[in-house]
Amino acid sequence: MLQYIVAFSFFALFMVLIKNGLIVDGTGVPPYRADVLIKRDRISAIGSFSTKSAHTVIDAMGAYVAPGFIDINNDSDHYGTIFSDSSQSSFLKQGVTTIVGGMCGGSLAPLIDGSLISMRKWMSSQIVNVNWHTVGEFFDVLQVNGIGVNFATLVGHSTVRRAITRGEQRDLTREEIDSFKNILSRAMSQGAFGFSTGLGYSHAKMTPYGELKELVAVTAKNNGLYTTHLRSETNELEESVKETIQITRDTGARTLISHFRPILGFEQEYEAGISLIEGAGATLPIYFDLYPFPFSLYPIYRLLPLSAQTGKLEDMLSAISSPHIKDELVENFPYLDGGSLIVAYAPSAPYLVHKKLGEIAKNHGVSCAEALVFLMKETKMKAVVLYRDINIDFAIHRLRHSQSIIVSNSPSVTDHGFLEHDRLSRTFPYFLEIVANMKLVPIEDAIKKITYTPASLLGIDNRGVLKPTYFADIAVFKDSEIRHVLVNGRVEVSKGDLVGSGRSGMVLRKTK
Ligand SMILES: [Zn+2]
Repeated sequence: MLQYIVAFSFFALFMVLIKNGLIVDGTGVPPYRADVLIKRDRISAIGSFSTKSAHTVIDAMGAYVAPGFIDINNDSDHYGTIFSDSSQSSFLKQGVTTIVGGMCGGSLAPLIDGSLISMRKWMSSQIVNVNWHTVGEFFDVLQVNGIGVNFATLVGHSTVRRAITRGEQRDLTREEIDSFKNILSRAMSQGAFGFSTGLGYSHAKMTPYGELKELVAVTAKNNGLYTTHLRSETNELEESVKETIQITRDTGARTLISHFRPILGFEQEYEAGISLIEGAGATLPIYFDLYPFPFSLYPIYRLLPLSAQTGKLEDMLSAISSPHIKDELVENFPYLDGGSLIVAYAPSAPYLVHKKLGEIAKNHGVSCAEALVFLMKETKMKAVVLYRDINIDFAIHRLRHSQSIIVSNSPSVTDHGFLEHDRLSRTFPYFLEIVANMKLVPIEDAIKKITYTPASLLGIDNRGVLKPTYFADIAVFKDSEIRHVLVNGRVEVSKGDLVGSGRSGMVLRKTK
């Protein structure tokens, strides 16, 4: 078997023919029947090559052939799995060939002081041995380490800001803003594709508009993408969307609102936000991303009252000893019940993974709020949970929206102690399934949302479309199941199975 794989990969380097498939090229044109010829890492030709011989022939009869999917809101860097699970096979198996990190204000570079403190909300520091400062150095380390999918990153606002203020929560001085602008420019000149904010997080919530505007203006000047985790996804959602539209208008940046989800109880605010985005979309390049599931993925500390989220981990752990904490949890999370929360990751207490809150409560003879406090204590606030706080009917309806992009908003899950759950491991096949079953949009529109649109927002002009000279990142799927995946011309998934090296991905560097 091993010999077969080695020989297979070796020949696949030269020429691959995907024949008899229905081409969905990513641009939104209706599918058409054709063969795709791949030489080395590029698409060489699209047409009829029935007599052509190739080292590897994939028969795609009855299947769609599309560009590999681009996951423009991915968490594998946040959780450190781009290093600990470098093949990213749970994404390969979904047809994903490019993941984009650095979202929600947190990126793995640049690290001015070499510290990952801004990432501590997601990962424990032991996962990654940091031996870089700049974006360029980080890319070099990642490429040497190897990765199964292509990786692109934005620069996280909180990552840079917390290094500048050494963790203090205060306004930046004039000199600090100028220095931040230089750091951002340099990071983009080294290949970062844009800039992200995590304004909903306690450390960034008070960031003044003027600071954001200056930084997003630098992003726009460097032809980058701005993404934002809104200041509020609930009662002040409309204000947050207005602020985002304003910044897009003031700076001219392409803008993507991250995980724009209809939170239960705030559907009206969500619909008002959608109307604002639609209105602005007529003249501004503004989009939103979301996923087709009722669960959000949260580091568990995000279920604390906001007032308790600002301190260090140690402060948070002492906050949960307060006698009032249970009442506050119930007040903040009215949908907290036995089935609303599932433990997705618990590094110090893996026996809890897969458990629902109701099971933990029953085992300990306590209320759900008390069980949540137990979970926080038992995992030393390091658990990651799936929390059902999304109105799925509203979300499904918005999957078809012309300004929506579909994303995983999750890390890879293979061999990393993470729960195997559709929310974490099947976003893209599940999206295709919904599109087919509910006839949400034509297949060409669905594919465009996960290929060409994210590529053009990022400014990647040689991926995301099936076209000669473009990189051969390709997903072949039938009945919404992924059958074959090529990354840079190499076959990584064949008939649904992993067959490649798991190292065919490239670090993508912005060039213009
Ligand atoms: Zn976020």
